[in-house]
Formats: sequence, C-alpha cells, structure tokens
Amino acid sequence: MKQIHLTDLTQKPSDQRAVFYTTEGKFIIQNDSPLLLVRETLERFQWNVQAVHEDECVLMVQIKEEETHDEADSEIKLIAPRDYFLSMSSQLEIGKKVLRAAHWAVANQMLQFCSHCAGSLEKVPETTEKKCPQCQKSFFPKLSPAVLVLIQRGDEILLARGPQHPPEMYTILAGFIDLGESAEETVYREVREEVGLEVTNLKYFGSQSWPFPDSFMIAFTADYLRGEIKIDPSELEEARWFHRDELPKLPPPSTLSRKLIDDVFVKRRSF
Ligand SMILES: [Zn+2]
Repeated sequence: MKQIHLTDLTQKPSDQRAVFYTTEGKFIIQNDSPLLLVRETLERFQWNVQAVHEDECVLMVQIKEEETHDEADSEIKLIAPRDYFLSMSSQLEIGKKVLRAAHWAVANQMLQFCSHCAGSLEKVPETTEKKCPQCQKSFFPKLSPAVLVLIQRGDEILLARGPQHPPEMYTILAGFIDLGESAEETVYREVREEVGLEVTNLKYFGSQSWPFPDSFMIAFTADYLRGEIKIDPSELEEARWFHRDELPKLPPPSTLSRKLIDDVFVKRRSF
C-alpha cells in the first residue's frame, strides 16, 4: 500500500471512488455507501486530507474526524466499520475493497509506536508494513485466525449465546486458534471446552476476513458424536439444540456464521 499525494488524487478520473475514513478509524458514508466519488467529495466538502493510501485493491483517504462534525449535510455519516458490515443485507455485498480498507484503517491506527523502543513508526511504501526508523523493527497489520463450527444432530443444530451477543440472538460456536494448534484441533478443543461435547466428521466450509479488529474466520461443519451439553459459564450464557423449525434470532446475513447456517442447514431443509 503506497502513500500518494493529494495532487495525484485529484488528477485521477472523476469517477474514481475511495473509502474515506477518519483519524479514529471510522468510515465516512454517504447515502449508505462507503465508496465515495473522490474529486466530487473533496470539492464539495473541502476537507483537509491527512493521508492517502492506495494499492491494487483500494484507495483510502484519511480525514480528521472533527472536520466532518460541522457538515450540515445529513448525507454524511460516520460509522464504525464493524457496524457497517453488520448492517449489510447480504454477504455478497462485502467487497474485498472495503474489507481491506477496514483492516487497514484499524491497523494503521494501532501501529503508531514501536513496541521495542517507543519510536514513531513510519509507513513502508508499496506495502502494509510499518517500520521503526530508530531500531529498524518491522510491524505488520495483525491477523488473528479463529474457527467457527456448525454442529448438527439430525434435524437439530447447536446454537449458543454469550454475554457479548444481542439479547435473544444465538449463533454457532467460535474460538481463536491457540499457539501451535491446527484449525481442526481448535474446533475439537473449543467444542469440548465451551459445551462439553465431542464432534466428528469435520468438514471445511469457507473463510472470511473479519477485520474488527483483526479476525480471520475459518468455518467448519461437524456432526454430534457424544456427550451432554455442559456450558463454560465464563464464555457462554446458554447453549442448546434447536430444531430446524424453531430457529431463534440469528446473526446478520453479512456474517460467515449466518451464511453457514443458511447454506448448510436452512436452505437444504427437506420436506
Ligand atoms: Zn524501535
């Protein structure tokens, strides 16, 4: 990801779109879209551009958050990238561009100082790397891999809810991959720890970047093998089997959890 100059930006074709984001990492959205016309937007709002980054995927323009506060124009809203994705009506709308922009916005904000000598980090052109000019240590945006697993038992699936979930919303089990583990080992361990069950027939389903702030989700399906549900109360408030005809409130359609539930369980229902 290279840093480019404002003059380069305004000389580009007038239909070029960019993700505008604030120094606090929020997206600026206009008419519910995070991809704004570059030249038109800059001419209209006269924002003082802090930085511009571009690679083959995405162009990003950083604005100081306070500059957007005076806009009487109600078309402009600030939104946390995670809230934007959760509000989308389908996973198909999640563009690589905007996901990458969200991750970069968060990472750029987090990677400001060297953790070895406290020097101010500088961006390395053409990459997502940041480097300490004092001790030469390199830093990259962090990616934290995690697993999701849909556990089936005949016409039922296991769904759970934790304290972080909205009231009455249930979802499939998830957990971060621990040091030294394979993704498959994480599934077996998390299922055992969180609900006390054993599963079998693990199958890969798909993956999704979820950069809020830095997750990478790897999804599996599994079949129930044995055990009675016994939840870990430090992780979950409730877990139980739901029949396909009485599913509770589920995660938003933009999430991989929901896509997994829909594709594997809801859409393949037999009558
Ligand atoms: Zn340093």
